[in-house]
Amino acid sequence: MTSLTIESVRTVLVDLPLRRPHRFKSTSIEHQSFLIARIRTADGIEGIGEAAVPGGPWWGGESVETMKVIIDTYLAPELIGQDASRVDYLMHRLERVAARNSFAKAAVEMALFDACGQALGVPVHQLLGGLYRESIPVTWALGAEDADIVIAEAEEKLATGQHASFKLKMGAIEPSLDANRVVSVAKALGERASVRVDLNAAWDESTSARWLPALEGGGVDLVEQPVPGWNVEAMRRLAAALAIPIMADESLDGLPGAFTLCRAEAADIFSLKVHKLGGLSATRKAAAVAEAAGLPCHGGSSIESSIGTAAAAHAYAAIAGVTFGCELFGPLLLAEDLVTEPVRYADGALRVPHGVGLGVRLDESKLARFARD
Ligand code: MN
Repeated sequence: MTSLTIESVRTVLVDLPLRRPHRFKSTSIEHQSFLIARIRTADGIEGIGEAAVPGGPWWGGESVETMKVIIDTYLAPELIGQDASRVDYLMHRLERVAARNSFAKAAVEMALFDACGQALGVPVHQLLGGLYRESIPVTWALGAEDADIVIAEAEEKLATGQHASFKLKMGAIEPSLDANRVVSVAKALGERASVRVDLNAAWDESTSARWLPALEGGGVDLVEQPVPGWNVEAMRRLAAALAIPIMADESLDGLPGAFTLCRAEAADIFSLKVHKLGGLSATRKAAAVAEAAGLPCHGGSSIESSIGTAAAAHAYAAIAGVTFGCELFGPLLLAEDLVTEPVRYADGALRVPHGVGLGVRLDESKLARFARD
């Protein structure tokens, strides 16, 4: 094996245009921003990693701008001169100098795994337990737009045979209007597709108790994070009251959060996400907590490019419990990508890359074109 001594850690911010605007509860985006981490070893191997947040710091507090400062100022000095193959050891070092900042740490860890995979000549999924599945069904994300816009987009996806399930963002408008909007979408799609909703913590418990049963009665199959992440007790009461599953996303912000949710019986499904959990190893650990509690997992997304999507695909494909598919739709929403060969989709599913490391390589000309000055 070659020397994996880390010589340099570089970061760059990139903004890529979307194919269409994407509306969340508190913002609408036409570009998605990325932090790209490049870790170079003494033998000239370069591992790449990426972090993105869904349109800004509203989701979890981090932004690509804060990630760059944290990595450049605090994380990089802990990595220089160290052996890139000691991934868990290095992540513990990073934890000692910077609390939280899980998205920034995930970008770094991704680059370490990419470098290790290249050095060993294996894809990253082989470092994570090996392939459990070769492709992962993808739920298509529909923005918090008016019903007619959402229905038209869903019909187009159904007509072309892609995506049998849709996730609608909610929380941008008044609850009764929002619930009626979603029910009309679910009715229009009927038995032809599974309709799921993500409140992104927009409602309080009483609003949820008032309107979630209406969504359930209107044909919605799954509700994601109706109340704030900290309100595990409300999640427990809502999960007990509804027949459809409640999926935890913002509440599942780390391993202690995973354990708390299971102990409180406050979620029916875990939405794993490589970035919020702080890396590929942490994602496997969170899935193990779910497995211990008998809960299935879904492969979440922060709207990554092909780099972060490939990394998440390696992790989700290696975890048996990811039985609720994934939402790794980032490369399909982006009008441009950052790699020479983007990840591939077929029959509504993401194919797990087979190349060494992450299985995707940076396109330097694209990076130069979309990088911030
Ligand atoms: Mn979510």
